Formats: sequence, C-alpha cells, structure tokens
Amino acid sequence: RKPIIAIDGPAGAGKSTVTKQVANKLGLLFLDTGAMYRSITLAVLQEGIDLRDQEKVKAIAANSKIQLFANPIVGQPMQVLLNGEDVTTEIRTPEVTANVSTIAAQPSVREILVKQQQLIGQSGGVVMEGRDIGTHVFPDAEVKIFLTASAKERAKRRHADLIAQGQVAPDLATLEQEIAERDRKDSTRESSPLIQAEDATLVDTDGLTIEEVVTAIVNLYEA
Ligand code: C5P
Repeated sequence: RKPIIAIDGPAGAGKSTVTKQVANKLGLLFLDTGAMYRSITLAVLQEGIDLRDQEKVKAIAANSKIQLFANPIVGQPMQVLLNGEDVTTEIRTPEVTANVSTIAAQPSVREILVKQQQLIGQSGGVVMEGRDIGTHVFPDAEVKIFLTASAKERAKRRHADLIAQGQVAPDLATLEQEIAERDRKDSTRESSPLIQAEDATLVDTDGLTIEEVVTAIVNLYEA
C-alpha cells in the first residue's frame, strides 16, 4: 500500500486544519475520524436511547451509514452524511461534543468504526486524524505525529473554529474546561485511549504557525 500519515492528539490541537493542508500539499486523501464518532453520537441522541446502553448503541453503530466528503471550502470541516442525510453542522453542536466521549469509550463502537477506517485506508495514500490512529488503527503508519498545544491555546483555537463554522461559541474559560474534561475521558478510557504512540513524533504547536507545522510534517514524510 501507499504511505499513511497518522495525526493524533487532544481536542483543539489543530489536527483538522493541519491534516487537510498536509494532504493537499502531498496530494493525499484525508480523513477526520472524529466526525465518525460524532455521527454515531448524533444518531444515538436522535433515537433518544440511554447513551450507556451498550447493546442499543452498538446496534445503532452497526446500522448507521456514514459517508465523508472533503469540503472544498478551505477551513471548513468534512461534509458528513449520516444515512444519506447531511449532518455536517449537527455533529458539531455542544450537545454532540459533550456526549461524544461517552460513545467513543464503548469497545463495540470503536470496533465497528476502526474497521471502516482501516478499509478506507487499506490502499494507503491518506492522512488520518484522530486519537488512536498511530496506536490502533494503523500501528504501522509510515509517519506518526502527536500534535499538541497548551490548554489555553487549544481553547482559543476551538473558539475560532466554532465561530468560523457559524456555531455558538462558549467563553474561553468554559471551553478550556470542556476540552480538559473531554481529554480526561478520552485518555482514561480502557479501549484504545488517547496516548502518544511510542514511535510518534511530538509536535507542540504553541507559538508555531499552521504553515510551520505543515512544513515540519511534510519534511518528516519526505525524509
Ligand atoms: O476530533 P474530534 O474532537 O472531532 O473528536 C471527537 C471525539 O471523538 C473525541 O473527543 C473522542 O472521544 C472521539 N474520537 C476517538 N477516536 C478517534 C477520533 C475521535 O475516540 N480516532
């Protein structure tokens, strides 16, 4: 297969922007796996079932069809269809964001989505972003990046993202708290938690421009 670039890290580290630009520069596909966990969370919320009912959640995950398309508009997230319906905006609401870690912690949900991600990336030539790409989805990825930034910086970026997406943005202190809570849940779950792969390169993006981060990753890929 062609090479795979895995980009993992906590919420708001700039993964989406960086992933898209690296993919564009190298002529590779890109995939935002967080959008898949968000889609299943939305489906569960729409069904009105108990989020902790693992059997029902699993059935929803197994029966949901998620389709992802690159958004041609720079700075905009991937276009997402859930069972044929456009949910690009709905998967970014505060309600979905607040509940996605609970759904993503369930092993059966992860199993179903990881299989789909491995299928999408089976021929390689893709930049994939998430929490467990370098550790679980493609442990043999040619380039592994762990992207991070200080909590303050990540809250600022998330704020700017939400505004750019036309969403309501909570104040910075609230956002920082929400991000910290989501990171805590993502890093302490039992099933493939958010953790830096041993062989991943740590990129602390504080004080770096997007351009600098993108160049650093492209250089790693070409080295
Ligand atoms: O990247 P994003 O912030 O949209 O991800 C939303 C949530 O999806 C994360 O907080 C995490 O709970 C889950 N996720 C995951 N594994 C991935 C990608 C996302 O558990 N590979």
